[in-house]
Amino acid sequence: MSGCAKIARCVECGRIIPEDEAPWRRCFICGDSICLEHTYYMRVKRSGLYDTYFDVVRVCKRCKI
Ligand SMILES: [Zn+2]
Ligand SMILES: [Zn+2]
Repeated sequence: MSGCAKIARCVECGRIIPEDEAPWRRCFICGDSICLEHTYYMRVKRSGLYDTYFDVVRVCKRCKI
Protein backbone atom coordinates (compact mmCIF):
# COMPACT_ATOMS: atom_id res chain seq x y z
CA MET A 1 0.00 0.00 0.00
CA SER A 2 1.42 3.36 -0.93
CA GLY A 3 0.00 6.48 0.60
CA CYS A 4 0.39 9.76 -1.19
CA ALA A 5 0.90 11.79 1.98
CA LYS A 6 4.20 11.32 3.74
CA ILE A 7 3.69 10.53 7.38
CA ALA A 8 6.14 12.11 9.77
CA ARG A 9 7.21 10.00 12.69
CA CYS A 10 9.33 10.92 15.66
CA VAL A 11 12.81 9.43 15.28
CA GLU A 12 12.97 8.74 19.02
CA CYS A 13 9.65 7.09 19.81
CA GLY A 14 8.05 6.52 16.42
CA ARG A 15 5.00 8.53 17.29
CA ILE A 16 3.13 9.95 14.33
CA ILE A 17 3.37 13.70 14.11
CA PRO A 18 0.20 15.48 12.93
CA GLU A 19 0.54 16.73 9.38
CA ASP A 20 -0.08 20.33 10.35
CA GLU A 21 2.71 20.19 12.93
CA ALA A 22 5.21 18.26 10.84
CA PRO A 23 6.79 21.23 9.02
CA TRP A 24 8.08 22.77 12.24
CA ARG A 25 8.52 19.65 14.37
CA ARG A 26 11.91 19.05 12.90
CA CYS A 27 15.45 19.03 14.06
CA PHE A 28 17.22 22.18 12.97
CA ILE A 29 20.47 20.31 12.43
CA CYS A 30 19.66 16.96 10.84
CA GLY A 31 16.07 17.61 9.73
CA ASP A 32 14.64 14.53 11.45
CA SER A 33 11.06 14.65 12.64
CA ILE A 34 10.62 14.92 16.38
CA CYS A 35 7.52 14.90 18.56
CA LEU A 36 6.88 17.50 21.24
CA GLU A 37 8.22 15.21 23.93
CA HIS A 38 11.52 14.72 22.16
CA THR A 39 12.05 18.27 21.08
CA TYR A 40 15.00 20.01 22.65
CA TYR A 41 15.83 23.64 22.39
CA MET A 42 19.19 25.04 21.62
CA ARG A 43 20.53 28.54 21.39
CA VAL A 44 22.37 29.35 18.21
CA LYS A 45 24.37 32.37 17.28
CA ARG A 46 23.23 34.12 14.17
CA SER A 47 24.65 36.97 12.25
CA GLY A 48 22.08 39.56 11.38
CA LEU A 49 22.50 42.57 9.17
CA TYR A 50 23.60 44.85 11.94
CA ASP A 51 24.29 42.61 14.85
CA THR A 52 24.97 39.11 16.05
CA TYR A 53 22.09 37.67 17.96
CA PHE A 54 20.92 34.45 19.54
CA ASP A 55 18.07 32.41 18.22
CA VAL A 56 16.37 29.38 19.72
CA VAL A 57 15.99 26.38 17.46
CA ARG A 58 14.45 22.93 17.84
CA VAL A 59 16.80 19.99 17.75
CA CYS A 60 16.57 16.25 18.33
CA LYS A 61 18.21 14.41 21.21
CA ARG A 62 21.24 13.37 19.16
CA CYS A 63 21.98 16.87 17.93
CA LYS A 64 21.53 18.50 21.30
CA ILE A 65 24.80 19.71 22.68
ZN1 LIG B 1 9.12 11.22 20.38
ZN1 LIG C 1 18.97 16.10 14.82
